[in-house]
Amino acid sequence: MTPKNPLSKYFRKPSLYIKLPTGGKFNPEISQTVLDEIGVCPMTAIDEISLKNPDALLNGEALVGLIKSCVPDIPNPSKLSNIDVEALYLAIQYATYGSDMTHVHKCEKCEEQSDFNIDIDYILNRFPEIEKVDPVIWNELTINIRPVTLDSVTRLSIIELEQKKVVAQVKASANDEEYVKQEETSIARTLYSSFRKIAQLNVDLLSNVIDNIETPEETITDNEMIREFLNNIPTDVVNDINTRAKDISQRPKEATQFEFVCPECEHKQQVALEVNPVNFFTRG
Ligand SMILES: [Zn+2]
Repeated sequence: MTPKNPLSKYFRKPSLYIKLPTGGKFNPEISQTVLDEIGVCPMTAIDEISLKNPDALLNGEALVGLIKSCVPDIPNPSKLSNIDVEALYLAIQYATYGSDMTHVHKCEKCEEQSDFNIDIDYILNRFPEIEKVDPVIWNELTINIRPVTLDSVTRLSIIELEQKKVVAQVKASANDEEYVKQEETSIARTLYSSFRKIAQLNVDLLSNVIDNIETPEETITDNEMIREFLNNIPTDVVNDINTRAKDISQRPKEATQFEFVCPECEHKQQVALEVNPVNFFTRG
C-alpha cells in the first residue's frame, strides 16, 4: 500500500453545492444521499487544458472528463440530462473563477468589441426545476418521457457537423458542371446516406428520451424494444413524443438571454449565451 500523502489534506474540495435541475430523478446511478447537495470542485490545470482541445470537446470527452474530475458524486456523466450538465458546467466555472463571468460581445451595429460581466449565480437561479413530466398517452399505453441526455446531444452535434460538411462539399462541386455530370450518382448516394444517418439517429435519440412505457400488464424499459416500437407506430404519436421531449429538455430562453448596450454607439442587442461548450462548434 502506498503511504498516505500528507499533502492530501490540501487537495481541492468542493467549493459549491448545487441541486440538479432534474433533481437526478432520471439517474438512479447517483447516490440518493447527495442529490440535494452535489459538491462541485474547482478545475485543475489539466481540466482547464482539456477544455481547450477542440476534438475532445466535440466528441464530448472533455465535458465528461471535466464532470468526473470536478463532480465526483456523478458516476456516469454521459447519462446525465443535458440540462443538468449545463448547470454543472456553469457551477464548475463558478467554483473555479468565481461568480463573475466575462463575456466578450461584438456590437452588431458598429462592430466594436466590449467586455460584459455576467453573474453565473443569476443564471443558475433561473434554471428550471424539472418536477413531474406529463406522459404521452396513446391507446392504453403511458409513454414516460425524460429530458435528452448529454450523450444524445453530443452524438447529434457530431452528425450535424458531418452533415454540414457533406452539404458544403456537394455545393462546392455543383459549380463544376463536368464533375456533376460524371459524379451525379455518387453525389446522390452521398446525400442519401447522409440523410438516412440523420433519420436513424433521430429514432435513436427519440428512444433515449423515453424513460419507460407502461402497458396494462408491465413496464418496458428495454431500449431495443422501445426503438422497435418507435419504428412501428404512426408518425403523429412520434411527433407528440418529440414535442414533449423538446419542451422539457430546453432551459428557458430568459435564463441565458441578456440585453447588451454597446458602450460606443449605445445600440441595444439581445444575446443568448451558449452554456454547453459542445455547441460552440456546431453553432453558426
Ligand atoms: Zn456599437
